[in-house]
Amino acid sequence: MKKADVFEFYRRLAEGDPAPETELKWTNPYTLVVAVALSAQATDVGVNKATRRLFEEVDTPAKMLELGETGLKEHIKTIGLFNTKAKNVIAAAQILVDRFGGEVPEDRAALESLPGVGRKTANVVLNVAFGHETIAVDTHIFRVSNRTGLAPGKDVRAVEDKLEKVTPQPFRAGAHHWLILHGRYICKARKPECWRCPVADLCRFRPKTPPPGAVA
Ligand code: SF4
Repeated sequence: MKKADVFEFYRRLAEGDPAPETELKWTNPYTLVVAVALSAQATDVGVNKATRRLFEEVDTPAKMLELGETGLKEHIKTIGLFNTKAKNVIAAAQILVDRFGGEVPEDRAALESLPGVGRKTANVVLNVAFGHETIAVDTHIFRVSNRTGLAPGKDVRAVEDKLEKVTPQPFRAGAHHWLILHGRYICKARKPECWRCPVADLCRFRPKTPPPGAVA
């Protein structure tokens, strides 16, 4: 995609949603880490439902340790892979208390040293909680980047690197949200809704999906 088209692509996504926010509910950097860790292979809606009461009681690593693994499982048992996730969340809370004074570190390597926190989660936390210009490539961003020609790449890391390279200011901090929301609600996996897409003329995907009921 040409530089001017990339700018226009983001400008239109930004125009439709000037102040994008993550759909995961969180109250401070720690609850964001927990919410993102719980969201792997689960929907944001499902995670929010489980964490609503949890975060009223528990909003620091120390309180998470007090709750303990069994108590945590009670809260999150509706979320997929909850056994492993509970183990990781408790182990991460212990490390945060022991090594980081109970605070979430604003540092990629430190975040990635926590159990259950990979590059994607670290990118989300750095972007959403600390305002860094990171782009966490999830399934939606991977698809949108490849399909449209915005930042094609064979794996998530290649796409992340390409997005880092091509995404201009003033869109770098919000790019993560705009691309996810675009993929989640318009450029859907099975049937992208091209007929109502604000960037259809800039996107290289062919053939475009026609409006429902249109005669082929
Ligand atoms: S035109 Fe279609 S494929 Fe291209 S970004 Fe829009 S919804 Fe996705």
